[in-house]
Amino acid sequence: MSKDRPEFLQLVKLLKAQLHGLSSEMLIQHLLIDSRNFRGQQGVLFFALEGDVHDGHDFIEELYNKGIRHFVVEEIPQKAFPDASFAEVENSLSALQKVAADHRKKFSYPVVGITGSNGKTIIKEWAHQLLLADKHIVRSPKSYNSQVGVPLSLWGMESKHELALIEAGISRPSEMEKLERMIQPNIGIMSNIGSAHQEHFSSYAAKVRSKMLLFRNCETLIYCRDHPLIHKRAQKLKDTKLINWSLEGEAASVQVVQIKHASGYTHLKVQSDRGVTSFRIPFVDSASVENAMHLFCLLELFGIGKQTIQKRMSSLQTVDMRLELKKGLQQSLLINDSYNSDIESFRIALDVMKAHRKRQKAVVILSDMVENDSEKWVGASAELLREMEVEQFIGIGPILHSHADQFPVNSHFYTDTSSFLQHLSDIDWNKRVVLLKGSRKFAFERILARLEQQHHQTILRINMNALSENLSNVRASVPEGVKLMAVVKAFSYGAGSSEVASLLQYHKVDYLAVAYADEGLALRQAGIQLPIMVMNPEPDSLEAMIENQLEPEIYNFRSLQLFLQGLNRLNYSGEKHKIHLKLDSGMHRLGFDMEQLPTLINLLKQQQEVEVASIMSHLAASDDPQMSRETLMQIERFKMMSDQLMSSLNSTPLRHILNSSGIHNYPEASFDMVRLGIGIHGVQSDSALPVASLFTHISQIKMLRKGQGLGYGFSFIAPQDMKIATIAIGYADGFNRLLSNGVGEVFIAGKRAKVVGKVCMDLTMVDVSQIACEEGDEVEIFGKNIRVREIAEKLNTIPYEVLTSVSQRVKRIYTQE
Ligand SMILES: *Cc1c(COP(=O)(O)O)cnc(C)c1O
Repeated sequence: MSKDRPEFLQLVKLLKAQLHGLSSEMLIQHLLIDSRNFRGQQGVLFFALEGDVHDGHDFIEELYNKGIRHFVVEEIPQKAFPDASFAEVENSLSALQKVAADHRKKFSYPVVGITGSNGKTIIKEWAHQLLLADKHIVRSPKSYNSQVGVPLSLWGMESKHELALIEAGISRPSEMEKLERMIQPNIGIMSNIGSAHQEHFSSYAAKVRSKMLLFRNCETLIYCRDHPLIHKRAQKLKDTKLINWSLEGEAASVQVVQIKHASGYTHLKVQSDRGVTSFRIPFVDSASVENAMHLFCLLELFGIGKQTIQKRMSSLQTVDMRLELKKGLQQSLLINDSYNSDIESFRIALDVMKAHRKRQKAVVILSDMVENDSEKWVGASAELLREMEVEQFIGIGPILHSHADQFPVNSHFYTDTSSFLQHLSDIDWNKRVVLLKGSRKFAFERILARLEQQHHQTILRINMNALSENLSNVRASVPEGVKLMAVVKAFSYGAGSSEVASLLQYHKVDYLAVAYADEGLALRQAGIQLPIMVMNPEPDSLEAMIENQLEPEIYNFRSLQLFLQGLNRLNYSGEKHKIHLKLDSGMHRLGFDMEQLPTLINLLKQQQEVEVASIMSHLAASDDPQMSRETLMQIERFKMMSDQLMSSLNSTPLRHILNSSGIHNYPEASFDMVRLGIGIHGVQSDSALPVASLFTHISQIKMLRKGQGLGYGFSFIAPQDMKIATIAIGYADGFNRLLSNGVGEVFIAGKRAKVVGKVCMDLTMVDVSQIACEEGDEVEIFGKNIRVREIAEKLNTIPYEVLTSVSQRVKRIYTQE
């Protein structure tokens, strides 16, 4: 592959960059933009990008210490780094994009550019499934379609490939031009344009216009003729051959003349200039039909025969991009990635594993990949496993089995999943972090079912991508230089402490806060290294706090004395222990009052044991604009009190008063740090991404005759014949009993169903008379369709309470794309 890759000095020239430091040559194999993803490979070039949150320049030293010597930067570091080479550019992101564009130009095989609001990733993955037998394909890993995702996708192109499938996604109109210049697609596919990601677009038309920019130099464009605006724009493309299809009888290159659904399949009969073709796809939803029609056009363009089209279309497989984290047997952590295996997605999954791996040993279970170039992926997988220092590897499938000699010694191989299942108990799963990565046909869900800890049917699904996105949205609104303390008390508002804390640590927040020492202890045991503040330190946990570097919030003289005594009793002689002083600025809950400050200052001056790390207060009504006068007074009082403390302490602790709604409403009072709690959970507004979604299943469906009673106390009598579903959730799971008899609703098969009768401890009945559903179907309690806020309003409470009421017997599953 080396002939496809440039030398460092070639890139310096390409970028017209200023070279600083050593003028040393290196063949560039990998482009790195995130320091956390470095695994010690050779040939790495690091681009220091300035993000909203992190500045890549801050990680140069860390990477230098790990052995990287080649950097693209906007600013030369102050510090000297012997034998490192720096290419100084105006803008590192533009430089990365230029490198990608230049790389792409080296290849003359077709590049298919795919954009639209929905379906991009599925179209790309299906195109791969449909064409993999004919062509050596390179494609965007997962949904790498952004301003940095696209360059990394293009960098995967090599001369041995015959086709590239590249996704392009934009969140602002101006971004598409840059993507187009990099991708330079020969063939375009315009997928569906829905209403997603509308915020930055003035109108639907503007959205179409900006997406269509991807195709301005395409030789061929494939799209659906039934969207008038897309068609209008397509006709403006001068030298582009248009291939369009229609379901609605518009004049188009391909007409869908018949469409029928039967037993899980959609049967399509289409007419093109190659005549009539009938084929079926194993899906019934209209989005799948639309995606399949785009791909039918692509297959015809590539001259694929009718029979081959029929065969391949009927075996299309769902694309599950989700990566799930679950608790396993013996305190193991299971990471399940059912995404169609290829080496790039394996690399990404290993990175995810790395982020969740603390001190535990790692087990990786991998199946044969879908990719056809087995020599390549087998070797590359073995190398990745070595780089990641995986303790135990299990390979499943004939190809891996026959290449066993390439893998580290402590590896085991099985030809199929069943034979591995017979040996499952030979392995020590205790506290392991286990990555399962299996192509669909190896049915790794069977392994998962054996390794999972709880089988309760009710699950709280935590969307880690939403959490990351909410975090970065909040961060963007916090003034520069202000630190972020993430509040993860009460199991992170029900979402799970160590899992959420690990993600927050990965995103480099500055501090964590918990309510009790036990919660902090659990985080330490899970390997969390961030500083942790404990807001309600109990006297009997002092020892554990001191040993585990948990920093107490001190809010009165009693708590200060107890803590100082604790330190003395333990003969503590290490560094000064950090404490956080809580001031009462007007909420009248916890904290020192103004009059107590002189005594407090005296006490602090007389001791050597503790250091004041921060001074804080809490707002009583930061969410209520009607109370802004009171809030501003609290802020003012906090400023006065903390000024007084700081001036007599000769130290400069961090100051903080804002919680989530404070961050939103009073950013000018950010001081040195803000405390973010509910703001990352996406429940404050309906446009925010919900992080936690609660699901259960239908246990049974019954017919209720007019006049029959239902449930405890027969509190519901059927006014007419009805269909009732009993669902596996009750008040012991956190489905409040006040939701009985028509107050609460759940979401089943695309519709709302009202609660009928009384909510029981473990079960609830809902009216599904008008809903086509079956036993075993999934039921959303809250999530995208029924928002936590709505339930909170019905219960006359706040989202905090609904979230934290989901009981611990409900299994948490973490998903990540
Ligand atoms: C819970 C809590 C927070 C976080 O509040 P949110 O409204 O969830 O952001 C901040 N500070 C203190 C003292 C808290 O108790």
